[in-house]
Amino acid sequence: MLDAPNSRQPRNSLRLQTQAKALRTVHTLTELKDALTWAQNHALAVLPLGEGSNVVLQPQLNALVLVIKLLGREKLNETDGHVTLRIGAGENWHALVTWSLEQGYYGLENLALIPGTVGAAPIQNIGAYGCELAPFVTAVHSRYCRDGSALSLSREECGFGYRDSVFKQRLADQLVITHVDLQLAKQPAVNTQYPALQSAIEAAGQANNATPQNVYDAVVALRRARLPDPAIEPNAGSFFKNPVVPQDLAVALQQQYPGIPVFPVNQQQRKLAAAWLIEQAGWKGQRLGGVGIHSGHALVLVNYGANSGPAILALAAKIQASVAQKFAVQLEIEPRIYGALA
Ligand SMILES: Cc1cc2nc3c(=O)[nH]c(=O)nc-3n(C[C@H](O)[C@H](O)[C@H](O)COP(=O)(O)OP(=O)(O)OC[C@H]3O[C@@H](n4cnc5c(N)ncnc54)[C@H](O)[C@@H]3O)c2cc1C
Repeated sequence: MLDAPNSRQPRNSLRLQTQAKALRTVHTLTELKDALTWAQNHALAVLPLGEGSNVVLQPQLNALVLVIKLLGREKLNETDGHVTLRIGAGENWHALVTWSLEQGYYGLENLALIPGTVGAAPIQNIGAYGCELAPFVTAVHSRYCRDGSALSLSREECGFGYRDSVFKQRLADQLVITHVDLQLAKQPAVNTQYPALQSAIEAAGQANNATPQNVYDAVVALRRARLPDPAIEPNAGSFFKNPVVPQDLAVALQQQYPGIPVFPVNQQQRKLAAAWLIEQAGWKGQRLGGVGIHSGHALVLVNYGANSGPAILALAAKIQASVAQKFAVQLEIEPRIYGALA
């Protein structure tokens, strides 16, 4: 029932070398149930993986890795204004965004070209270009790793926040997500508030009449121009979350560094740009023993050949320490870290 043990296929976008106790690809709910029972019988933890674009894998994974390939796009409900879809967790996220636009189902355009699967999208409430997954989710369906029993959560129960959800908190590593229900609009409406997107739309002469297709095209073009392709420069996208800090600290930093970008969160808190902090701390473009920070994007850590989780995490720790020393701000790592040293 297990996949070939010596498969050398890289299963993470950082292309880190790792060895799991066992690995199985799951296409159906029956295969999932069998796999969870097998893990129970062998006293192994279960690690669900989609496309491995948001994980740092250490050399040893003492787990059964489940590669989730549950597919399917089902229409649950349709009104004049909306459609509700049930999407298999193994579906590719960007393919879903493209397909929904083709169907005339709108809302996901700003999230185009985010790597990974539908099942992973709720884990960190994926977001980009002024938009997050959360408002489109009506339910997330899952199975408990411990016994295969079903759990369905409403949007409220998912506890979505900035790159956060109940799946990273109270229910972390307890569930395999099998399907996600999304409600999309049938009337075209666009969100072009995000400054870089707004500029691109204006430059294309679409400021007053932008369509969802225009937004999708602009987001795809912006991402292609800005983000390194993991197939060429192995990376996990943004390595750190943008830190949310007390307002007092943000004001003090603004006095000391007038150019610092500061964004409102609420009365007490402000969000800073992690990329700016890292660049100011002198890290952009630096390399250290086969890993480095991308020269065009200070938030992206790249595996230049070290192929090792510890090398990436050692670099991340150095960046965190220097940003903490310079700005008194603690950067939090965005990808999930799994496994142990050899
Ligand atoms: C170049 C690049 C750009 C990126 N840009 C963005 C961006 O703009 N915005 C953004 O939010 N993210 C971004 N990311 C991060 C990444 O695309 C998302 O986090 C994505 O949702 C990860 O999907 P995945 O299938 O690769 O998940 P994986 O990396 O395989 O897994 C990530 C986490 O989800 C869990 N998981 C995966 N599938 C399941 C499942 N079915 N059930 C339960 N748990 C599961 C894993 O255990 C792990 O904890 C980027 C990454 C890269 C490499």
